[in-house]
Amino acid sequence: MNAAVVTVGDELLSGDTTNTNATWLCDELDARGVDVERVTVVPDRVTDIARVVNGYRAEYDAVVVTGGLGPTHDDVTMDGVAAAFGRDVVEHEEALEWLEEHGGYTRDDLTEGTAHLPAGARVLHNEVGVAPGAVVGSVYVLPGVPDEMTAMFGSVADEFSGAKKHIEVVEADEPESALLDRLAALQEEFDVSVGSYPGDYVRVKITGTDEDAVAAAAGWLEARVDPVESNS
Ligand code: ATP
Ligand code: MG
Repeated sequence: MNAAVVTVGDELLSGDTTNTNATWLCDELDARGVDVERVTVVPDRVTDIARVVNGYRAEYDAVVVTGGLGPTHDDVTMDGVAAAFGRDVVEHEEALEWLEEHGGYTRDDLTEGTAHLPAGARVLHNEVGVAPGAVVGSVYVLPGVPDEMTAMFGSVADEFSGAKKHIEVVEADEPESALLDRLAALQEEFDVSVGSYPGDYVRVKITGTDEDAVAAAAGWLEARVDPVESNS
């Protein structure tokens, strides 16, 4: 399974807010074996949200959108997602009933638009805040507030799965440029993905779905690089 993450908010683009939701979602999805192929930040603008969501839902198995829920003027994500499907946004009766029953609100308490979701959406209840999320086709719409987002993702986490990945990391005490031939040979010899991350040392991350291939590749490389001496 592959996926794209779309984070919505002018405050992300201006640098006022650090996009921790994107990193958190990538980590969670990756841990479930889902290949995250895109992370995109879009402004609070219906046309941009609609265009990106519409493109990604055609291209990826799932799209996870966060931010811009609720009834305030800059919360337009539900309108954007609805537009991506050519649907209207309508009051969702089940979302309202849940807010009355579990949130202790009367319908009059709730700001107009709180329970407006794309027509035909499945509601995702907000156990931490107020604004409900939604699932439309393969598009999951979650709140922007991190606590609300993580709790709501938890309610649908089982819907995200992929082949289990195995990971080995080999550290080399050599310049990255000196390793190029061995990294190329590694990639060619074994059915694995190879990432090279220079820092004080080069961290070579070997990933694959075949545990034996990953272990064999790590052993092959370990035998051919200058190891990092530990200080202890
Ligand atoms: P609410 O219903 O409370 O308005 P919301 O879903 O509309 O929530 P936003 O209005 O987009 O969420 O954002 C609310 C706050 O959540 C932001 O001010 C910011 O602090 C945080 N937030 C939003 N998006 C992100 C993100 N991608 N990463 C980290 N924090 C975020
Ligand atoms: Mg908001």
